[in-house]
This record gives sequence, structure tokens and C-alpha cells, in this order.
Amino acid sequence: MGTGDRDPRYDPLFEPVKIGPVTAPNRFYQVPHCAGMGYRRPQMMAAMRGMKAEGGWGVVCTEYCSIHPSSDDMPYPHASLWDDSDVDKLRLMTDAVHEHGALAGVELWYGGRSTVNLYTRQPAFGPGSLPNSSKYHMPLQSRAMTLDDIKTLKGWYQAAAERALAANFDIVYVYANHEYLLHDFLSSKINSRQDGYGGSAKNRVRLIREVIEETKATVGHRCAVAVRYSIPRDVENDEDELIKMFGMIAELPDLWDITINDYSWEMGSSRFVKEASNQVAVAKIKSMTTKPVVSVGRFTSPDTMVSQINSGVQDFIGAARPSIADPFIPQKIDQGRIDDIRECIGCNVCYAHDSLGSPLRCTQNPTMGEEWRRGWHADQVPERHADETVLVIGAGPAGLEAACTLGQRGYQVTLAEAQTSLGGRVTAESRLPGFAEWARVRDWRMGQIAKLPNVDVYPDNRLNADSVLELEHQHIVVATGARWRDDGVGRWRETAFEGSHEPTVFSIERVLKGDMPKNDTSKCHVIIYDDDHYYMGAAIALKLRDENIAVTLITPEGRVGSWSYFTQEQYGSMIALLEAGVKVVTNQGLTRWNGSAATIQCVFSEVECTVAADYLIPITAKLPNDDLWLELQSKQDEFHEKGGLSMQLIGDGSTPGLIAAAVYSGHKAARELGLTAADKDKAGRDTTIVSFTP
Ligand code: ADP
Ligand code: SF4
Repeated sequence: MGTGDRDPRYDPLFEPVKIGPVTAPNRFYQVPHCAGMGYRRPQMMAAMRGMKAEGGWGVVCTEYCSIHPSSDDMPYPHASLWDDSDVDKLRLMTDAVHEHGALAGVELWYGGRSTVNLYTRQPAFGPGSLPNSSKYHMPLQSRAMTLDDIKTLKGWYQAAAERALAANFDIVYVYANHEYLLHDFLSSKINSRQDGYGGSAKNRVRLIREVIEETKATVGHRCAVAVRYSIPRDVENDEDELIKMFGMIAELPDLWDITINDYSWEMGSSRFVKEASNQVAVAKIKSMTTKPVVSVGRFTSPDTMVSQINSGVQDFIGAARPSIADPFIPQKIDQGRIDDIRECIGCNVCYAHDSLGSPLRCTQNPTMGEEWRRGWHADQVPERHADETVLVIGAGPAGLEAACTLGQRGYQVTLAEAQTSLGGRVTAESRLPGFAEWARVRDWRMGQIAKLPNVDVYPDNRLNADSVLELEHQHIVVATGARWRDDGVGRWRETAFEGSHEPTVFSIERVLKGDMPKNDTSKCHVIIYDDDHYYMGAAIALKLRDENIAVTLITPEGRVGSWSYFTQEQYGSMIALLEAGVKVVTNQGLTRWNGSAATIQCVFSEVECTVAADYLIPITAKLPNDDLWLELQSKQDEFHEKGGLSMQLIGDGSTPGLIAAAVYSGHKAARELGLTAADKDKAGRDTTIVSFTP
């Protein structure tokens, strides 16, 4: 790596760092993160991790890796080291990582009361008999460990550590946070044992101490032993038990991987948590140990990264999300390609998908998760299949991504956009309170397009079918997006509500454009009816509260923004709504609007009541803007007579959904132009490894 173009300011990021018996080639450290691949999709996982190593990350770790069948997180495909077939699977990953000179780390994990063990049906061990803490709230408790069970557990750790050696890992983790078993032993609230593993802080830290010492004895001749450990945000409290216990084992491992003891903060959406938000807490820990420290902070700015190192906050730049959004950050910094860094927007769509048990994906990086299945490289695209021209209509995330990737492939591209500004929905949504970082989706693509002389951009150009045909391009990509419905049709209602044509009903687009009258906002009361269940309901409510408008948010679900639970936004949104004084009404569907009051119905009892308001904003579903597409379809003959070769509809205009899906569809359309239909639709299931441990 290295072209000599690196700004010397960033040299500290490229220093090798010793971690016990191994040496990381630089300070870029991909901490363990879930990927929805694990034991079930080992080739996919190996290729994805290998891509990060190729992009310059000096350390690349697995996701949580179960040490024993009694820690089975079905239906989530974590990694596992239960037996030798797992060793073979994980060797695919270590080989892929080593090929690029990086170190491979494995995060040995025992879930305890958080695991349901649906596949193995084994009891999960716990410090006591405690209710299952998974999101299912299973009617199930952990088994209070006897002293013999503790011995058995430690044996499982060492058997897994030996397998980690066999799989050629360089760093072996003891995973002691995120409310898994080892963390539960630390907690005075959870651990109520009366024996030598409970009671005093010294006793509660004993199990971790022993597991660290034994893991060092098992693998320490060849591997570093890292400990993942969480601390509170408020580290000034010297009485905090986690800080005190840290002091007792501060010199034991070879590396500390520090997280914050609040997942909604550690994994916070950019709406609520910004870059480098943990540094005060991490600096405190760093001052308490001589061992190297790594921590995350959604670092995407090389200046912030280098300041972490220069000011001694930490020794490594830990990253999960930034390495997902751009696996090539280290290489780009090294090559002086700072403008090319594709910055994470903090939307947590990555996390949402592995929380659903599906492979990882990313709003910014459409290649994420497709490295093996489709063979997509994160920083390279295939050259154009022919000297042909492409017209892309619409410059939202789908159209921008398509134009950018087609341009990088070398096609002559014209991008036409109806509005004066580019970005489509991303431009509109990034103006909502807290959403500024989402504009990175537009800005990165516009920055890349600006470097491509073969891409011409025409804003303020609304095309109709005749103008499209007149332009005589060989390929047409229609990316005209979608608009919010204002008739209430969604999940709870299949038909429009009575009164949906009243002039006091406003669509999201009109609210975002500022069409809603703003006479005396202090007297204005708006009802938001949210049957969408993602971020938009809460975001619009908070925007209106910023304008001093009273808001009642009504939803047929039991909680506001139920899908945003998966993106870790639900909690933050709810706090923000309550603090802003938004009135929340749950389990109620909308039936009527008479211009000044909504009739709502309990989703269980069907009992109706009315809520008076000045305006109603339904947020339920979208309608694709596919008029142009349908007209073009009807003029296919004319298109082909004029030399046209292909036409496709992408993004929200085809299937309204996540921004991530629009970017992906733009990328797929562009990357696959010129491929045969069979090549485009490879199933791509992991098949080489036939043995199956769940
Ligand atoms: P997506 O998420 O699929 O990219 P968006 O709704 O964000 O969709 O963006 C679609 C873009 O297409 C918008 O910026 C819109 O102004 C633009 N657009 C819609 N119809 C036309 C048209 N006929 N000609 C040019 N641009 C259009
Ligand atoms: Fe960042 Fe969103 Fe990509 Fe996750 S999905 S890495 S949060 S841009």
C-alpha cells in the first residue's frame, strides 16, 4: 500500500503497533461487528472481511463467535467455534484477511441469559436463574451456575481458544460486555451469588480474570488476548464499579477494546450521537493501563482519527460502521484520496439487517455483503462493455448512484434532474432535525461525478417521453422516485379514509416544502398519523415542535416507529418526542377527517373517539412516480427504431423503500449493464462448505 501521496500529517495512523506477541501493520482496526453471515454464510463472511483487509484495515475481526452450543443465538447467524467444521469455515476468513497482511481477530462469546438456544435446546448458564433478556422476552430463565458449571464453562472457553489457534487467528477476544454472561458476573445488580464469584468487586471480576489468564496460557505463545469491556459514559465517577473493576485487571490482557455501557449510545444513530462521542471516557481508561486501547466513534474524518492518536486518547482507530460504508478508508488516506472517502451516515441500516438475521447491507456502500455472492469489489468497477451512451432520469440516490457507477465504468452518461438541486429525497430529508449527515449520500456521489468528464449533469430538466426519445441514448435508466400518499392507505387501512381530500390534509412533500400555513403556530395543532413505522413520523413531529406547533402523533402500532427499533433509533426518538412535548397515541387507526377533527379507532376494541386539530399529516405509504416509465414502455418500438437498446426502472420509482435499496438498485443497474440475464441473477448461496453446525 502507499503511493507516496499521503499527507504526512496522517503518518501516525500508519505506524505498526505491537499487541502482545503480534504486530498490527497500522492503527486501523475493524472491531468485531455482526454481519448476519457467521456460520451460515462463511464464504460471504470471508470475502467481506477480506475486502476490508484489502482496503487497508490492519486488524479485521469476526462477529460474535459462540464457544459452545449452549450459547446459540438462532435465528441470528453468529460465528461459532463449536467443532472442527467451524474451524474450516473460519479459516476461509483468516486466509482472506492474511492475504492482505492484516491480523485476524475472533470474538469468543458466551451469551448466557441473552440466548434463547432455539436450535440446541440447551440451558443457558447465568450467574443466577434470571429471565431471558433477548428481544423475544422468551418465557425462559438461565440456569444458575454451580462451581462445577463454572469450571465447565472455562473448559469450553479454552477448547474454543484452541480452535481459534487452529483457524489461524492472531487475536483472541474475551468478550465481557453487552450484557452477555461475563458482563453479568461483573454487575452487582445482576450477580447476587454468595460464593467466591459474587459479592465483592474482587469476586465478581474473578471469572473474567480467570478466563483471561487461561486464554493467555492457551494461545498467548502465538496470539494476542484482547478484552472487550464496557464503561459508563460518565467516567468521572470514581466509585463506578466497572471502572473500579477495570483497575483490577487493567494490565492482564494484551489489548483493551472499550465500549460504552449503553448500546443506544454506542450504536447511536447520527440523529442523536456524533463522531468521536466516546473520547472522554476512553481517554480515562487509557490513563489507567499501559496496554494498547481501541474504541469506536464512527470515525470518518482522518483529522479526527489522527487527533485521537496524537492526543493519546487511544492507540487504534476502531471502526465498525465506517469500515462498512467504506472498506477502503485506510488505503484512500494513504493514497491522498481523502475526497474519495465514502462516509458513513449513521443510519444504522447495517445493524438493522443483521438484527433481522439477514446479511449486512449499507446505505452508502451498495457492494457491502455482495463481495462473494456477486463478486462486487468495494473500490473497483468493471470497464464498460461497449462504447454506448446512457441517459439517467432523476438524480435521487438511485439515479446519482447509477450515473456515478456508469461514469466510472466509462460510459457516456447524461443525468437529467427535474429540480434545480440534486439528491431527491435525501436532499429533502437531510433538512429534518438531526439528519444533516444523510446528505453525504448525495454529496459523495456528486463529488465522484464531478471528477468524471464523461458524465454530464442537467438539473432543472424535467423530461417527458418525447424529450427522452429525442435525445437518442442507447440505454435509459429511469430513477424518478416516489411520493408519499396522503390518503391514509398503508398497513392498517387498504382504502382511503373519509375526508382525505379536505384541504387541511397535507402530504409529507408539502410539509417539507413549507406549504403548511404558518399563521400563529402557537395556536396550531397538527395530527401526524404514522402507519409507516420508521423515522419519518418522529422526524416530522420534531420538526413541527421546533416551529412551536402542537403535535399529536397517532399510530396503529403499540409503539412509535416500531421498525426503527432495528436501527436503534426507537429509544432516542421516543425520548426526543417526550422531551419535545409531543402527545403520543398508540394502538389507534385513522378512520375519518372532517377538516377539524380526526376520528380514530382502537385497533383491538374498534371503539372510536375524536381528536380535534387544524391539520392532518398522514404518513403511511408511497406511490411510485412511474408515469414516465409507463409512457416509455408504450413507445418501445419507436425507442428501438431510433437505435435504443435497453430501458430500466430503478429505485423508489420501481419499489419504494429504504434509501439503501435505492442506492443498491442504482449500483446494480449500472454495474450489470451489458451482462446477460442469467449472469445478473445468480443465486449465490454458500455451497462449498457442506457441513452444518447451526
Ligand atoms: P430514489 O430514491 O429512487 O433515487 P428520489 O425520489 O429520491 O428517488 O429521486 C427521484 C428524483 O427524480 C427526484 O429528484 C425527482 O425530482 C426526479 N424526477 C422525477 N421525475 C423526473 C423527470 N420526469 N425528469 C427528471 N427528473 C425527474
Ligand atoms: Fe453507516 Fe448507514 Fe452504512 Fe451502517 S448502513 S455503515 S450506519 S451508512
